[in-house]
Amino acid sequence: MNWAFVGASTIASQHMVNAVRQQAGNEVTWIVSNSPDRVKVWAKEHNFANATTSLEDAISDPEVGAVYISSTNEKHHAQAMAAIAAKKHVLCEKPLGMTLQEATEMVRAANAAGVTFGTNHHLRCSGSHRAIRKLIAQGRVGKVLSLRIHHAVHLPDHLQGWRINSADSGGGVIPDIVVHDADVTRFLLQEDPANVVAQMTSSGMGQGVEDSCMSVWTMPSGAMVMTHESFTHPFAGSSLEVHGTQGSIFANGVMTQRPVGAITLVTEAGRDEIAFPDHSLYVMGVSEFVAATEGHGRPAADGPDGVKSLSVALSVREAAKTGQRVEVDYGGF
Ligand code: NDP
Repeated sequence: MNWAFVGASTIASQHMVNAVRQQAGNEVTWIVSNSPDRVKVWAKEHNFANATTSLEDAISDPEVGAVYISSTNEKHHAQAMAAIAAKKHVLCEKPLGMTLQEATEMVRAANAAGVTFGTNHHLRCSGSHRAIRKLIAQGRVGKVLSLRIHHAVHLPDHLQGWRINSADSGGGVIPDIVVHDADVTRFLLQEDPANVVAQMTSSGMGQGVEDSCMSVWTMPSGAMVMTHESFTHPFAGSSLEVHGTQGSIFANGVMTQRPVGAITLVTEAGRDEIAFPDHSLYVMGVSEFVAATEGHGRPAADGPDGVKSLSVALSVREAAKTGQRVEVDYGGF
């Protein structure tokens, strides 16, 4: 399948071009960017056959089967709607849109057009998160009581652009990282957060948008979830803990783009180091998306998954703004 990449972005360059090229018979044949200069440089650097500043050029190519969207967040909705109207499969970056309405429109339009729609939530593609999900599903920790996610990192210098200074482009740590933590929580516990309370702040990096956030979510099962996201913590490291009536899972360094980290299961029987596969998260995600376009299975994270992760993030921001507990609205999904 041929792909059009929309957005000359860091994530495309660092992970997604390779992830597509790792799939037999798949190639990126178009790059679309707003910048006439950047698009030319990119086409040369990555060896793309076609480069354009017109999305229409790329999506009108009958040889293109899929569109990957990794522009800034405020552009996702219009670009996805155009690609869907052209009957292309769409793999869209998180957050799907700026509002719940944008995201639900995109997913409903893809369903109506009969094209595959995926959300690029990479963490659920990792060997570590899949191993943790299996431990929980096997009952190794008993009934889950709580989940804690520590996802306070340091935003690298080269990414300190729109994420920290442009609310209009979808900046802020909540649309950037809370969406991932919402997806991880839903993936691991297989239920959707019911309501949230939260606080956010700008502690030196964010200019007009929050750079740090802490929130507590209630799950329908009664499990409690606590998450911490930040752009400003150089030495905190990431971790994920699941605590149940029969055991606890401690996963260090697993909230990342790379297949790294360590998982320990602690029960009455003692401590078990849990092995997990070290495949690329992005190659796995694209592989499952491609299979779904061929009628096999579903994308690792599909459209409703993207709607729901965004909904949780928007609720967290509203709760932090108002100081109120917010019931999460999933827009009918
Ligand atoms: P970048 O900041 O690298 O790129 C975003 C856009 O900025 C590009 O599409 C491009 O616009 C423009 N741009 C790129 N380079 C320059 C430059 N030198 N000067 C001016 N503008 C430039 O974004 P990211 O790759 O960090 O994020 C893109 C999307 O991917 C976001 O939606 C983000 O949330 C998501 N993301 C997802 C990750 C995941 O693991 N799933 C990880 C990282 C990001 P143009 O469209 O004109 O080419």
